[in-house]
Amino acid sequence: MKLIGILGGMSAASTQIYYRKLCEITRERLGGLHSPELLIRSLDFAKIEELQSRDDWDEAGRILNAEAKALERGGAQFILLATNTMHKLAEAMMHGVGIPLLHIADATASRIITSGLSKPGLLATAFTMEQSFYTDRLVKSGLTPVLPDAEDRDVVHRVIYDELCKDITTDKSRAAYEAIAQRVVDAGADSMILGCTEVGMLLNQGNVVVPVFDTTLIHCEAAIDMALSE
Ligand code: GLU
Repeated sequence: MKLIGILGGMSAASTQIYYRKLCEITRERLGGLHSPELLIRSLDFAKIEELQSRDDWDEAGRILNAEAKALERGGAQFILLATNTMHKLAEAMMHGVGIPLLHIADATASRIITSGLSKPGLLATAFTMEQSFYTDRLVKSGLTPVLPDAEDRDVVHRVIYDELCKDITTDKSRAAYEAIAQRVVDAGADSMILGCTEVGMLLNQGNVVVPVFDTTLIHCEAAIDMALSE
């Protein structure tokens, strides 16, 4: 089994989900006492969020690049960047790194296409929904993403940073997310990407009417596929 390097802490709330899920999938696939070979580097999200809000993506890219190199030196055979938003910096992060990155948007897009769906709603941070680095990647894969309107995007973004990244879940925000997901479906979405690694804390197949694609869970499944491949 390959050693998976996880660059996480963005936020710590979702990195905990990654760890649990990777362990569960490995147990399901291999049985017995098997668990995944992992190297987890969990960053202080306060520092990263400050760079995001200052728009200092160059410095954030330098940090991610240094961390990816450290994971490689530590023996990781491929990398999971455990956040959708920071995939904005995927190229800068992997500069001079000799091991591959398992890209979260590619893993998700390929799952949607295999399911025969094509118009996924996208619930994510404002960075992921409004900048082109993520939606372009979905479009290149043959998908047509459907975004919430500006007011709803603001609510989705705010709940991620003010609550979910701090491990806070409330009935009020769950209801708000359910209503937003329904409006995105009414606008034409045939499926729903939980495009932020914390959104699964509020939404899942039980409270969204179209097929749900949770990027965290898909990323974990793709990682175990890759770790177990030759
Ligand atoms: N985990 C989040 C994501 O998947 C948001 C936190 C971040 O900005 O990295 O986009």
